[in-house]
Amino acid sequence: MSERVIPLVDQRHPSLPLPPVVAGQTRHGLPVDALRRPLTDLRISVTDRCNFRCSYCMPKEVFDKDYAYLPHHQLLNFEEITRIAGVFVERGVRKIRLTGGEPLLRKNIEILVEQLAALRTPDGQALDLTLTTNGSLLARKAQSLKDAGLQRVTVSLDGLDDAVFRRMNDVDFPVADVLAGIEAAQAAGLGPIKVNMVVKRGTNEKEILPMARYFRGTGIVLRFIEYMDVGATNGWCMDEVMPSAEVIRTINAEMPLVPLEAAAPGETAERWGYANAQGQHDPSCGEVGVISSVTQAFCGDCNRARLSTEGRLYLCLFASQGYDLRQLLRDPAQTDAQLAATIDAIWRGRTDQYSRLRSLQGPDSALGQGKRVEMSYIGG
Ligand code: SAM
Ligand code: SF4
Ligand code: SF4
Repeated sequence: MSERVIPLVDQRHPSLPLPPVVAGQTRHGLPVDALRRPLTDLRISVTDRCNFRCSYCMPKEVFDKDYAYLPHHQLLNFEEITRIAGVFVERGVRKIRLTGGEPLLRKNIEILVEQLAALRTPDGQALDLTLTTNGSLLARKAQSLKDAGLQRVTVSLDGLDDAVFRRMNDVDFPVADVLAGIEAAQAAGLGPIKVNMVVKRGTNEKEILPMARYFRGTGIVLRFIEYMDVGATNGWCMDEVMPSAEVIRTINAEMPLVPLEAAAPGETAERWGYANAQGQHDPSCGEVGVISSVTQAFCGDCNRARLSTEGRLYLCLFASQGYDLRQLLRDPAQTDAQLAATIDAIWRGRTDQYSRLRSLQGPDSALGQGKRVEMSYIGG
């Protein structure tokens, strides 16, 4: 039997050189990037593993039993995550989302939640702390996550029809267990809950209306996400993208919708409210959202940074390289002030706007050809 050798340095994700900084040299004010976008939102991937094999994210053929996931010592530990998160908060971050892979697979995730929930902004405010999950372990964990200080959850669910759902998660996971997880989250007060549905034309567009009917009037916000060309393994093609405009038309034909204002600057979802007989938004019926990452890029407001499971900082979902913050976190000489100066310098140099350029250049542009990191590694 051949033994698999795990390289000491993981060459799958080469890192970018860190900018040189002088100790404690954060400039006055919070950093804005080269396109004047602030840094307010941090997504932290806590594992690159998942118990689902959604074909658009971790296709079975690639993420099989031989796939080399990161070894444990390469992951940031909870103390490292909390320390770097604290520095990000000091530099402007107000919202932290835990993601993955499947974040609820990370052992003792509640301890990390508790540590992050204790962080405060420079003016003493708690963070907006949330988590994105496939919901498979939520029925079991909703209450302990709430007790640990998690405020709300986003659950990914691509359909209500059990056969369609089992096919999409590709591990034969029943939809009833995810619905039970959503109910448990609601009962625990992890709201407002959002449910994300990736729409893949030819696979689950028939689920749009049943999903809209099911969540209408429940207080849960259903959001439809355009299938994205993220990563390099899902065999993405434009034919399988259902534009958000079509999703809205489909729902509107049965349940009339009216456009709503954006909830906050940098909000990725366009909001639509269910209308009453007078054509006005009826708050008791709630709203849906669409995230048009392909057909209507929102790079202009993109205030999000992503920290990978092993501590690489990525400035865009479509990046091929990140900055290795773990080496700084594991260097005893590095102070928090130095870390802050590094984050500032990296953010100030940011020019990323992949989706905008991609929509200007068209789906066949060279921009789409580069080697990109996987969504399961960088976090959605
Ligand atoms: N496992 C968790 C989950 O599924 O919610 C968290 C990680 S997952 C990578 C985060 C989000 O990314 C999910 O809502 C998933 O549907 C979305 N996602 C993954 N691949 C995608 C793709 N190619 N296009 C659009 N959304 C995608
Ligand atoms: Fe797992 Fe989430 Fe990716 Fe599906 S979308 S394979 S649940 S990480
Ligand atoms: Fe932000 Fe990159 Fe997505 Fe544009 S493509 S919205 S810069 S993550």
